[in-house]
Amino acid sequence: MTLILNGTAASQAIKEQLKQALSQEREKPHLVVVLVGSDPASEVYVRNKEKACHEVGFMSSVVKFDSTITQKQLFKELDKLNHDQDVHGIIVQLPLPKHIDSNAIIDHIAPHKDVDGFHPLNVGNLHRGQNGFVSATPLGILRLLEFYSIGVVSKHVVVVGRSNIVGKPIAALLLNANATVTITHSKTKDLMQHTQQADILIVAAGIKQMITADYVKEGVVIVDVGIHRNDDGTLCGDVHPSAYEKSSAYSPVPKGVGPMTIAALLLNTFQAFKERGV
Ligand code: NAD
Repeated sequence: MTLILNGTAASQAIKEQLKQALSQEREKPHLVVVLVGSDPASEVYVRNKEKACHEVGFMSSVVKFDSTITQKQLFKELDKLNHDQDVHGIIVQLPLPKHIDSNAIIDHIAPHKDVDGFHPLNVGNLHRGQNGFVSATPLGILRLLEFYSIGVVSKHVVVVGRSNIVGKPIAALLLNANATVTITHSKTKDLMQHTQQADILIVAAGIKQMITADYVKEGVVIVDVGIHRNDDGTLCGDVHPSAYEKSSAYSPVPKGVGPMTIAALLLNTFQAFKERGV
């Protein structure tokens, strides 16, 4: 029987743990999301983050700026948040307007408040196998596998995609967890030859339903990171349902990786809160 890796259930368990842990605290973690401009998708993501914070009893604020804000002004605003002792986690919602260098902005967030795990210090710590903040989607994937007791030690994990927010950090995280990892990308020759070797296949290519049954072996565990909206308004991922039938477990879209990303962000915010002033 195929197991469905239900991210809603796993994220709920994390939220319950966080509520429990928070009941022992006198103060509350505070996450600040910086939103520049009025991209509708970003506004939805930000609302979801706020909602999740309130669900577990965290404080959350959204600091909004007009899309005309200069990079220098944004640096100043980040300085204020970096030095504000009542702010524990900072996220700058991407994408930023074209005249702003996203990397320069990320580099400006204090690493101990960088709950997205995008600052080079946190990225470096991840690659050195040291503590730090791991970006939310990869951390959420690891927690999803753990929730369903799917071991990764000595497993061959094939990752499709090498983005800085998903592909590269999930590969590093699983390597640290003693998996054998293959990273594939848009220039990989004969992708299928690699994906067919996977014990665990993690797909983050951003191409609707590209992984069909031919790409996978029997018994594979599939984690689908992709999110696409169909014409009828429903959502689907990078994996075609025909591949599910050969799998021993798969994460659906929606209700798979998406809720785990939010839960992992809450975990990072709580970590930032616990380590404040350290
Ligand atoms: P991206 O566009 O930054 O990166 C896509 C990667 O896929 C690239 O590294 C590229 O080399 C690779 N790729 C493209 N075509 C390929 C092909 N034919 N074969 C092999 N590799 C190929 O995307 P991203 O930010 O990593 O996101 C990937 C998908 O995951 C998107 O659909 C995005 O919406 C979704 N996403 C979901 C969550 C979540 O919380 N569920 C979080 C982040 C991203």
